Amino acid sequence: MHDSREIVLARLPSGVPIRTTVHVYGEGSLVDTEEGPELDVPDDGGPVVYAQAAQHGREVNGAAVLRRLHERLTGGDGEGDGGGSGDAVGDDVRGTLVSVPVADPLTFDHVSYTTPESLDSINANMNRCWPGDPDGTLHERMAARLWPFASAADAVVDLHTGSPTMLTHTVYMRGDEACRGLAEAFGTDLLLAEAAGDDADTEWAERDFGGKFRVAATREGIPTITPELAHSREVVEEAVETGVDGMVGVLRHEGVLAGDADPWAGTVARNHLGRVTAADSGLFRAEPDLAIGDEVADGERLGEVYDPTTFETLQVAEADRDGIVYSVARESTVTAGATLVGVAERITE
Ligand SMILES: [Zn+2]
Repeated sequence: MHDSREIVLARLPSGVPIRTTVHVYGEGSLVDTEEGPELDVPDDGGPVVYAQAAQHGREVNGAAVLRRLHERLTGGDGEGDGGGSGDAVGDDVRGTLVSVPVADPLTFDHVSYTTPESLDSINANMNRCWPGDPDGTLHERMAARLWPFASAADAVVDLHTGSPTMLTHTVYMRGDEACRGLAEAFGTDLLLAEAAGDDADTEWAERDFGGKFRVAATREGIPTITPELAHSREVVEEAVETGVDGMVGVLRHEGVLAGDADPWAGTVARNHLGRVTAADSGLFRAEPDLAIGDEVADGERLGEVYDPTTFETLQVAEADRDGIVYSVARESTVTAGATLVGVAERITE
């Protein structure tokens, strides 16, 4: 019920191929063609879910999630330390799961978010160029190689992680009920609804958010979510467990695994609004008791930015809306315009 193949995503200037591994579980299989391995799903093969991780290579917990999920589905071979949680559920697979643990080996090897400019100066961030272009830049070619696996799916999960000072959440396209349902099935307490296109703020276009994998797949009519697990750069047990539970919830929701996703009773808030930014450069001191997940009120004091040489307070940082604290700057040395605290505004829809 499990099959895997190495695929070539693109080649480096030296001719060295950029390789990664695709895994398939359940009724689908990988067939070798002249262009490399392709997904084959029987016509009556049931639902298909595609999951990938580490587009941003320093976000390593997603790759760890897919390994742990592999153990759950196959009943073993893996960490060998008892790290696998729960019983093997692989016998119940009624459709197909396709997973790519390392979508971007370039950023993975650099433990980075973007590639060095020398490799792709146009699309240094792989998550801005979907669905890619087989004749395009390096990242566009890599995306184009993965796209057929993703676009064959009925649901897509793009695993990411944030910093330890960011609340775990799942992003979906605002107003898309199928994406919302998938996000609820993944089950993080906080869901962030991101407006798209004409409904979005100007930052959306300026930062090429239309080229995000999630947005491109959603626009193809494939419900897609971006879970942001906590912690980049460090595999953290709690984040891995959250991710595996989320993936099992998604597989149940889609009917790939038997059973129902746990009912969800969390909070929906708006993405990309409510950032409290530094009005001037200096040292940021958050309020000592401020923690991610806190409810804050409009006007509430969140911290201060001060001049380290004169001790003068340059800015009292205050919440500009009622909401939930989902990030607090970890680095105290801030430049003007930097995000100090993210406050997600609760919405009901
Ligand atoms: Zn990311």
